[in-house]
Amino acid sequence: MYNVPADFINEAKIWEALEQNKNPEPAQIKEVLAKAAEMKGLNLNDVALLTAINDPEMMAELFNTANTVKETIYGKRLVLFAPLYVSNLCKNECLYCAFRASNKGIVRHALSQEEIAKEVEILINQGHKRVLLVAGESYPEQDGFQYVLDAIKTVYSVKNEHGEIRRVNINVAPLTVEEFKQAKDANIGTYQIFQETYHRETYKKVHVGGKKRDYNWRTWALHRAMEAGIDDVGIGVLLGLFDYRFELLATMQHIFELEDKFGVGPHTISVPRMEPATNSDMASHPPFPVSDIDFRKMVAILRLAVPYTGIIMSTRETAKMRRDTFALGVSQISAGSKTNPGGYGETSEDDPSSQFSLGDHRPLDEVIRDVASMGYIPSFCTACYRMGRTGQDFMDLAKPGDIRLHCAPNGLSSFKEYLQNYASPETREIGDELIRETIAGMSGIAKQRAEKLVNRVKAGRDDVYC
Ligand code: SAM
Ligand code: SF4
Repeated sequence: MYNVPADFINEAKIWEALEQNKNPEPAQIKEVLAKAAEMKGLNLNDVALLTAINDPEMMAELFNTANTVKETIYGKRLVLFAPLYVSNLCKNECLYCAFRASNKGIVRHALSQEEIAKEVEILINQGHKRVLLVAGESYPEQDGFQYVLDAIKTVYSVKNEHGEIRRVNINVAPLTVEEFKQAKDANIGTYQIFQETYHRETYKKVHVGGKKRDYNWRTWALHRAMEAGIDDVGIGVLLGLFDYRFELLATMQHIFELEDKFGVGPHTISVPRMEPATNSDMASHPPFPVSDIDFRKMVAILRLAVPYTGIIMSTRETAKMRRDTFALGVSQISAGSKTNPGGYGETSEDDPSSQFSLGDHRPLDEVIRDVASMGYIPSFCTACYRMGRTGQDFMDLAKPGDIRLHCAPNGLSSFKEYLQNYASPETREIGDELIRETIAGMSGIAKQRAEKLVNRVKAGRDDVYC
């Protein structure tokens, strides 16, 4: 079943929706924004229509609506994670990536399990609780996919006086159903994969060698993951490869397909914009560069189109762009990231062996301080996944807004844990004040839970959640 054309990506339908909605009247835009404010999501035509917004006044209305939806559902929380690059070995030829097989300009290395453990210790000592394990599409020969399974096990096994990693998400090449089952048994949180581009012709042009040339194998990957019982999946496209409006609508078609077949859509959407990468002309000159304003617009539209799906912003973007998009819908960010295997043990800012260059080099503590100064609560919470609130269960809880009864208190207690155990004095002061103000502004059960959990952390208990 999974090697037939992925007909749920219907290119003709996408172009038709974009053509039919290319010149909307302000009244039509307002109508779609009013529908979006009900937080029930949008259809393909609605999304196409919003992509046509150019007028600054309408753009401001779009951004305001996205901000309201974001704050209503997510409050001021921002979930934090760190990528963990375990290997840059790769057999594919993706023209935009420094890890592609023929690139002789980088040093190849797959971390040993001991080296992985060292990287994890560094992340734990910084205060991280969630990692996204990343690898190229080739594993050390003697191990095969078992290498990834061992790496996951290693991450979970590292525990020291500063804590432990509580959730491992993975971004690795598409797996078979059997391999997905093994990944589930290894206790992964989210399986994440980016289609790169849903446009078949462009896909063929930019993937010139290796297994990744098979568009359908990649497009069906999340079906296989769900069939294997993984119900937290993450999607995304690599922005810059093709017209972002097409990609946005194709992403919606992928989401509708997953909702239709499995009753639940993706847990997260990532919005990676292409960044320069060693020896990649394409990465320095993306064929369809996405401007800053289109990038913000896209984040806002996604927030309205799938209000309960997390939006992830990586350190590919600058601190300023990251700040701007918190208000538009971003709910998860990476911080203090390195994109080369072994990068956390090194001191240099941008290693040429990195997958791509970063826009935000600040260490975790500085990001936390900045985020908290803006009034956002950095959350290290991993409660839902550990309590089995994933997939449909998570959505059932999230949709009526009940998740705030869990997420707000858990976010605050995990933030308090960070402040107490890892933060610089300056960050601690700003953070403690924010926690006080936030709890003062809460009411009912959420407030009671937040006070109780934060007090437990103050009393020396770690890892408390509801
Ligand atoms: N190798 C696996 C794959 O390709 O699916 C997973 C890991 S790959 C390192 C993770 C993602 O990095 C890719 O899906 C791609 O979207 C992104 N990426 C590659 N080159 C990039 C670049 N120059 N700028 C930004 N992101 C890039
Ligand atoms: Fe390899 Fe993934 Fe980079 Fe492509 S994007 S070259 S598959 S690591």
